[in-house]
Amino acid sequence: MNFPWLQKAVQYINKDTRDPNESPKLIVVVRVLVLSMLFYTVINSIIYIDMLNNIGIIILLVSFLMYLFIFRMTYHYKTPVVVYTLNLCTATWIVVNIFYFGWDIGVQHFILVLLVLCFFSGYSQYHFKIFFAIVLCLFRIYLFFLCRSREPVIALPEMMTNVLQMINTICIFWCISLIVYVFSKDSQALEHKLVDYNTKLLSQANTDVLTGLYNRRKAMEYLEELLIPSNHHFTSICICDIDFFKKVNDNYGHDIGDIVLQTIARTMQTTLEKKCFIARWGGEEFLLVFPSCNGDEAFCFLEELKRRISALQFNADGTAFSVTMTFGLTEYDFRSDIDTAIKEADEKLYMGKKNGRNRIVF
Ligand code: GH3
Ligand code: MG
Ligand code: MG
Repeated sequence: MNFPWLQKAVQYINKDTRDPNESPKLIVVVRVLVLSMLFYTVINSIIYIDMLNNIGIIILLVSFLMYLFIFRMTYHYKTPVVVYTLNLCTATWIVVNIFYFGWDIGVQHFILVLLVLCFFSGYSQYHFKIFFAIVLCLFRIYLFFLCRSREPVIALPEMMTNVLQMINTICIFWCISLIVYVFSKDSQALEHKLVDYNTKLLSQANTDVLTGLYNRRKAMEYLEELLIPSNHHFTSICICDIDFFKKVNDNYGHDIGDIVLQTIARTMQTTLEKKCFIARWGGEEFLLVFPSCNGDEAFCFLEELKRRISALQFNADGTAFSVTMTFGLTEYDFRSDIDTAIKEADEKLYMGKKNGRNRIVF
């Protein structure tokens, strides 16, 4: 259903503040709060008229005019001025109500609305907010003892006290829920954004841009975690390197070299999927860690990988070529430190290079 008057009203309430530096959200919340108070006074006046309670009607009439004035203020004054006026008027209104009708109608709980509004107002400093909270707390204690020391001017019938207590409770819950909903919705969205952003940042910090594999930083982290006592009895570690890669760059260009690196990385991922941790260790060097795999098992996986890599066909301006890799594999038994194991794998890789490349040295 389409209500043009409702749309107009919503537009009017959402109208921006005078000052572009002010939070439009806060002023909209203040407007809705003030409108709620206006509605509240209208509802209450029906009850007071019904009970022919003149003082009640006068108080409500004054408060209606007061909140109407504050509502108008939201379009002409800066938000802090409006909020201070709202606080002052509401505090006075609470005192007058308690003075005339006593503690039992429950208007004192409107202090909590002011407290919540203060803490969600972005314009005031934190030390001011704490000061304001203390003032409100003392104000509430003062009201309590004021009521204890004297009887209310008008003794309302119990039925009316109960009805007013209910209306006040509903209005207070509405006001607080409104403030908390509007502002917490924002902070929740912000929190989600921050978590997403952090996850993205972490993933970027751990990933090699060219190949999409984990980078050396992540590899070091992974190896450190591996040292934490676990169920693994041994782990196999391999460092492998593309043979004569410099020639690939020299003969076909750096871009083709990049494609070779990317293709090899993908082949590693598809061949060793879930069997091992793969990282780009350096330029054309990769680190493969096979947790819970002994050297013989890892050797079999590497043989398959070596075969697949040498079967890859690359093309540069019509010239087909292929590459091979050399692998240095070592079994890590968690007795020595991890650096020693990596050094051992590196030495085996070097031996493989020395003995003709395109092989696995274990
Ligand atoms: P070996 O078989 O002894 O390993 O010989 P090699 O030519 O592979 O080794 P060398 O260390 O002489 O050369 C490695 C080359 O890898 C040199 C460097 O330009 C190249 N390289 C390192 N990182 C990248 C990269 O990200 N992209 C490209 N295209 N080349 C890279
Ligand atoms: Mg190389
Ligand atoms: Mg190298």
